[in-house]
Amino acid sequence: MNIHEYQAKEILDRYGVPTPKSEVANTADEAAAIAGKFGGRAVVKTQVHAGGRGKVGGVKLVNSADEAKDVASNLIGSRLVTKQTGAAGVPVEKVMVAETLDIKDELYLSIVVDGDIGAPMIMASTEGGVEIEEVAEATPEKIIRVAGDPLVGLSPYKARDVALALEVPPSALRQTTKLITDLYKVFVDNDCSLVEINPLIVTNDDQVVALDAKINLEDDALFRHPDLAKLDDVNQQDPL
Ligand code: ADP
Ligand code: MG
Repeated sequence: MNIHEYQAKEILDRYGVPTPKSEVANTADEAAAIAGKFGGRAVVKTQVHAGGRGKVGGVKLVNSADEAKDVASNLIGSRLVTKQTGAAGVPVEKVMVAETLDIKDELYLSIVVDGDIGAPMIMASTEGGVEIEEVAEATPEKIIRVAGDPLVGLSPYKARDVALALEVPPSALRQTTKLITDLYKVFVDNDCSLVEINPLIVTNDDQVVALDAKINLEDDALFRHPDLAKLDDVNQQDPL
């Protein structure tokens, strides 16, 4: 089961993974009010079950509450077609309005179930922000893989190895190691099939923050998570 970015962000918040401040808006007026709280400068992000929003106008930087209102009114009620949707796209019913952060570097961090080895697999790359599929194809050596262990969990040295591979500034190493450890907890506790942070950013003041969040939940385990099962949004799914 797929969930929205704002829902994934709520889970990350509970585990102490840093994310930009944000709120969800169902109307253009709500979007304007939230942008106002952030001083007008904000990003308006369509909430749909698909990535690749930035490239097709689904993530927009605004400089005032009025601009947030205009952007949100155009987006809410429209359909967004991205590389990850069919030609018909997906309906935009909500937007998330987030504070903007100054990005020094965009990294990639995800955890998936590796069926071959039977363990959660962390994948990380210094080449974040862009399409990771292209990195995997053109420069596969730029994606590192570190497996956890279903019995032992994620050993601290492995979390540190991933943080080192991400080449974060030395002052951010400890924070990044903790973030990776917390993300692994998110993955295991909630029976996720995917947790993907693209981009994980380093800010100008060397903070490491999850700027985007995608979580897929394992359908067969949802009976253990009634609260998560409620997050299902059938409007994002093709009825067929
Ligand atoms: P998608 O993956 O669907 O395109 P993202 O959330 O990754 O959406 O956003 C696309 C790009 O927009 C990011 O790579 C980043 O450069 C920029 N962006 C997103 N959120 C913010 C933010 N809060 N502050 C500054 N830039 C942002
Ligand atoms: Mg993204």
